[in-house]
Amino acid sequence: MTEVRRVPFFNYPALFERDEAQIMATLKDVGSRGAYIMQRDLAEFEEELAAFLDVRHAFGVSDGSNAITIALVASGISPGDEVILPSHTFIATAAAVHAVDAVPVLADCSPDHMLSAESVRSLITDKTRAVLPVQLNGRTCDMDAIQAVADKHGLTVVEDAAQALGSRFRGRCAGTFGSAGTFSFYPAKLLGCLGDGGGLVTNSDDIADQVHMLRDHGRDRDGEIRRWGFNSRLDNLQAAILKFKLAKFPQEISRRREIAGRYQELLGDVPALQLPPPPEDGDHFDVYQNYELEAENRDELQAHLAAANVGTLVQWGGTPVHGFKELGFTNAPEYTEAMFRRCLMLPMNTSLSDEDVDYVAAAVRSFYDA
Ligand SMILES: *Cc1c(COP(=O)(O)O)cnc(C)c1O
Repeated sequence: MTEVRRVPFFNYPALFERDEAQIMATLKDVGSRGAYIMQRDLAEFEEELAAFLDVRHAFGVSDGSNAITIALVASGISPGDEVILPSHTFIATAAAVHAVDAVPVLADCSPDHMLSAESVRSLITDKTRAVLPVQLNGRTCDMDAIQAVADKHGLTVVEDAAQALGSRFRGRCAGTFGSAGTFSFYPAKLLGCLGDGGGLVTNSDDIADQVHMLRDHGRDRDGEIRRWGFNSRLDNLQAAILKFKLAKFPQEISRRREIAGRYQELLGDVPALQLPPPPEDGDHFDVYQNYELEAENRDELQAHLAAANVGTLVQWGGTPVHGFKELGFTNAPEYTEAMFRRCLMLPMNTSLSDEDVDYVAAAVRSFYDA
């Protein structure tokens, strides 16, 4: 390779620069109206998010982590209940369960890195109350299989769709399968704002009433305190920014799928790699929050790519939830355990040019050719 390039894993300043004019105009508009908390931009964003996902109710909340806690409280998860979630997730998913004094139980994932329904089934006890699938990397779990287990054992389903806005299974959007689903608008997420932000969606009018109160100090639509709540509102300014970004979000998804297709084309024949499922994959419509593959000699590959100025990451800093021994976990889901010696994420975002993708793929190939 003679060409010299630098492909960072994620380019935060590029996120701002691409939309700079519109961001500055939005700041001026919102600021001049003094419209900071629970104002019309938030209401409009919520309406448009609900329409995009084809769901009855959408709420902007403070972040994707508190969104899960609120979803669990609103869905009636109580102290002592066991909630089954994948070990391959951000600590926030398990922490949300802990925050409601319920017990997080860690399940294994399948070769596509998504929660295994079989593993969920094997962990059910008489205390199990809910299953919390994580719609990871921009993919939606096989929700038929998970719903079948949930139905058989009378479990509530709450989805952590922080990484999967716009992802679908059999045409239905991630976040809209369970009693409630949650999203993150963290800057590096598919739809990112300029700081923390999150969303919560539900098709249930009762859960929507609870969420409305839970995120705003327990106040109902008339401003009366009706229950204990939190301060967990999405800033109106962030909502205004997210609103204009949501309008062009379909192009964002198309570009990510195009990049995934390009990686597939350029790397699909490398025997040392197990790539993520390709864009055309049966019942699944992936939006590629991440491009998480499995690789032989992962650590050496990562060092080789770093030497070629290609930024990569092992998700969760290299440790699935069961690896945090101080938190008291004792099981080690088998596939997840092995996968964390092999998994690596290549750059996947819309700041990448085709040339960047080609460069990354060539750098990967040159490692295994050597
Ligand atoms: C990002 C993320 C969260 C947390 O979202 P925040 O907005 O950062 O609080 C939760 N779960 C998963 C799977 C995530 O990727």
